[in-house]
Amino acid sequence: MTIPLDLPTILFVLQASYIAGAVALGYARYRSRDAAGAEKIALGFLALAFGALMASYAEVDGAYYSVLSLINVCVGILGYALFLAGAIELSRRRPVRPGWIVVLPSVLTLAAGLLTGFHVINWLRASLFNGASVIAMLATAWVFYRDGRSEPLPGRRIVALTFAAAGVVSLWMTVQFAVGIFWTSLALTFVLILSLKFAIALSVIILTMERAVVKFDRLAHTDMLTGLRNRRAFFAVAPAKLDAGDAIVIFDADRFKKLNDTWGHAAGDDVLHATAHALAAHLRDGDVLARYGGEEFILFLPATNEAEALVIANRMRAEVSSATAVGTMPHPTVSAGLAVCREADTPLRELIREADDALYEAKAAGRNVCRVSGSAEQNVAAEAKAEAEFNPAA
Ligand code: GH3
Ligand code: MG
Ligand code: MG
Repeated sequence: MTIPLDLPTILFVLQASYIAGAVALGYARYRSRDAAGAEKIALGFLALAFGALMASYAEVDGAYYSVLSLINVCVGILGYALFLAGAIELSRRRPVRPGWIVVLPSVLTLAAGLLTGFHVINWLRASLFNGASVIAMLATAWVFYRDGRSEPLPGRRIVALTFAAAGVVSLWMTVQFAVGIFWTSLALTFVLILSLKFAIALSVIILTMERAVVKFDRLAHTDMLTGLRNRRAFFAVAPAKLDAGDAIVIFDADRFKKLNDTWGHAAGDDVLHATAHALAAHLRDGDVLARYGGEEFILFLPATNEAEALVIANRMRAEVSSATAVGTMPHPTVSAGLAVCREADTPLRELIREADDALYEAKAAGRNVCRVSGSAEQNVAAEAKAEAEFNPAA
C-alpha cells in the first residue's frame, strides 16, 4: 500500500515535530541542571526545522532551488553537529571544547557548495545530509553507551538505543539516496525518522529525570555537614534484626556544648566534620557508619565478636582524639557505647538501646572511653585488652 503523501507535506510535519522536540528539551534544560547539553540538542532540532522549511520552499519555488538547497544542507549539518555536541555534553557533563568545532562541518559544506555547486545534485545533497545524521546519531549512541560505566542508569541505554536506531534509519536513507533506488516508501521512512526524533527527545528527558531521582535519593540519605550517611540511611542499610556477633557502637562527642559555647558553632561544625572523617578512617567492608543525631554517630559492625568490636571502637575513639584538633582548640574526644548481639533475630532497636546505656556508663566513667553493654567485670577486662592493644610498650 502506498501512502499518498507529497514531499512538502512530509517536510511540514517534520518541522512541527522538530519544534515540539526543541520545546520539550529546552524546557527540560530550563528546569534542571542535570540536562546541561539538552539546549544544544534543542537548537539542533530548531536548525533541522529551519532546514526542512528551506527544503520545502526549494520544492515549491524552483527559482531559488540552488540557494535554498545549500542553506538546507548547511543548516541541517549544523543541526546534527549540535545534536552530537549536546549529547556529548549531556553524557559527560562537560561541554565540548573548542566550541567553534560545532560550526566547522557546515562551514566546510558551505564552502564546498559555493565552489562546486554539488548541492544542486539531489542524491549527492541528500546522501551528505543523511550521512551527517548517521555519523552524529551513531557517535552519540556510542558515547552514551560507553559513559554508562561511570553512570549506570537505565535511561542511558534508552538514549543510546534511540540514537542508534535513528542512525540506522539515516544509514538506510543514505544508501537509498546514494544508489537511487528506494526499497521502502519515502512516507514510511519519514514516519520512522519522525517517531525516532520524538523518542530521542523523550529518552533525554527520561535520563534527566533519572539523574534527578538519583541526586535527591543521595541528598535524602546523606548528612550535609559530615558527608556520612544520615539516620534515615542507617536504618535503610542496617538489618532490622541482628545476628549473633553483630555489634552496634554509639559515639558521642564529649562536652560538645561547652566546645560550642567556648569556640563558636562554626568551630563546632568543623570538629564534627573532622570527627566523622576520623571515625570513617577505620571502617571495614560491610561496616555502616552514620551520623545518628547532633553530635552522635552510630556504627553497625556485622559478624564481629566482642573483643574485636571493642578493638575497632577504641581504635576509632583514639583516632578522633588524635585527629580532630582545630586551630588552638584542645583535642575534642568522643565516648563510645558498644553492644554485641548474643542471640539471632535480636531487633536492631534493642541493641541500640543497650549501646546507649553503655554510652551513658562511658560518660559516667569520665569520657573518652568505650564501654561495653553488660557486666562491669567484662568492661574492666575489655578495657585492659584495649589498653594493651594501643600501648603495647606499657
Ligand atoms: P556530653 O559529654 O555529656 O555528651 O556533653 P555534651 O555537651 O556533648 O552534650 P549535650 O547533649 O549537653 O550537648 C550536645 C551539644 O551538641 C549541644 C548542641 O548544640 C551541639 N550540637 C548538636 N548538633 C550540632 C551541630 O550540628 N553543630 C554544632 N556546632 N553543634 C551541634
Ligand atoms: Mg549527645
Ligand atoms: Mg555529647
